[in-house]
Amino acid sequence: MVVREIKRHLNVAIIGGGPGGLSTAIALSKIPNVDVQLYEQAKVLREVGAGISIGQNSWNVLELLGVADTLTSGHVTSIILNLNGKTGEEVHRVERPPPKDQKRANIRTQRTKLQSALVAHVPPGVIQLSKKLVKVVDQNLAGVELHFEDGTVGLADLVVGADGIRSVVRDTAWPEYEIKFTGTTIWRALLAWDEVVALDERFATTGWWHSPTTHVWFSPVGEGLGEIAARAWHDPKIHSASKVSWGVPVTKEHVESHFTEYLPQVQEALALVKEGDWREFAAFSGPELSKLTAWGNKVVLVGDSSHALSGAFGSGAGFAMEDGYILARALEYFRNDVHRALPLFDAIRLPYYSRMYLHLAGEQKKREAKLEQHGGAEAASFDDKVRIKVIKGGGPDMSWIYGNNIGAVWDAAVAAIRLG
Ligand SMILES: Cc1cc2nc3c(=O)[nH]c(=O)nc-3n(C[C@H](O)[C@H](O)[C@H](O)COP(=O)(O)OP(=O)(O)OC[C@H]3O[C@@H](n4cnc5c(N)ncnc54)[C@H](O)[C@@H]3O)c2cc1C
Repeated sequence: MVVREIKRHLNVAIIGGGPGGLSTAIALSKIPNVDVQLYEQAKVLREVGAGISIGQNSWNVLELLGVADTLTSGHVTSIILNLNGKTGEEVHRVERPPPKDQKRANIRTQRTKLQSALVAHVPPGVIQLSKKLVKVVDQNLAGVELHFEDGTVGLADLVVGADGIRSVVRDTAWPEYEIKFTGTTIWRALLAWDEVVALDERFATTGWWHSPTTHVWFSPVGEGLGEIAARAWHDPKIHSASKVSWGVPVTKEHVESHFTEYLPQVQEALALVKEGDWREFAAFSGPELSKLTAWGNKVVLVGDSSHALSGAFGSGAGFAMEDGYILARALEYFRNDVHRALPLFDAIRLPYYSRMYLHLAGEQKKREAKLEQHGGAEAASFDDKVRIKVIKGGGPDMSWIYGNNIGAVWDAAVAAIRLG
């Protein structure tokens, strides 16, 4: 019989300092007998991107991590519009005034604000910058070897792959896994918001302005700033070769050229972004994993590395933070026995991600069926295609995502274990 050694003391290496890595570091630092090191490739922890939505699911986990009160800046998104970008027709409006018992309103904030709030709660000495992981090597009972670009080598009992959608940890431990360009390219910028709102007062409200294959998102993010995130879809068979990087600077002309059929005020707003301020993000996705752990419970994935859904729900930072929280709870519950804690992490998080994959496949089928009712992609008018694209009220209940209470999820898992 093989007797597994239960490591009461655990050396954990977290790869990546995004929301997943930082929240894992915060949560693990609070449990006994765990040494945590977080390795981040960047020289300075600085989020690329622009804004980020913090809904109830994210607030719930931020509360549990003790970070919620540190995140104080943002624009309350009590109204969200969907408009036809060519005619200005309001196709759909969501109004959700914060209920009285709801402590924190949904907000759109700057990504840097979330990041600095999380960093403020990571104990000193945990984060190591300029440490780009190039590979991990399974050293069996000795642990996992970490090889960094600077030539240094480390060893850990447990490696947490929080290194995002292009994860080196995942690509080493799951060598068959592949992500592919979805066809969607996103350009994002932050800018002073008063002059944008002067073009059309509807820009003061968070909203999507649509064409059938593109949209432009406008949202204030607090502190006088706002965010424009513009998306276009191109056939991935033709365009995927150039779409390998993330957060690449692109010219104004390049971005604006995709939105020439939009209303003049939308085009003028795009033109307000300064040369050099646009960043391009090519959306990649990959299939569902059958397990989030590998190498005999010495490797675990959290956040985007574990579910390459290309930001489909606009809540990936929330999911990443929930992962970090559950991983720490599971380790604490089983006193750092990875052979019991990691299967529990898998059992809680894997079905949740499966449900997301299933939901997206269903939504795609529904859109295709609606398009068929309008005579197919060729026959449907611009306005019909925009209406089909915008999912109207009466759609599926999404509270399992946006209202997820990860503390209650953990309590239910513990109750189930106790019941046997
Ligand atoms: C257009 C868009 C809009 C989005 N909007 C929202 C939103 O409104 N709300 C929301 O919650 N989510 C949103 N998301 C999703 C969210 O950005 C991600 O899900 C979230 O950032 C995932 O966090 P993470 O920590 O897993 O990965 P990341 O944020 O990608 O962080 C990974 C970190 O790992 C580091 N790293 C990578 N490789 C290495 C290496 N080899 N060695 C060392 N370090 C490494 C990176 O530098 C980075 O700091 C959006 C995503 C997109 C694309």
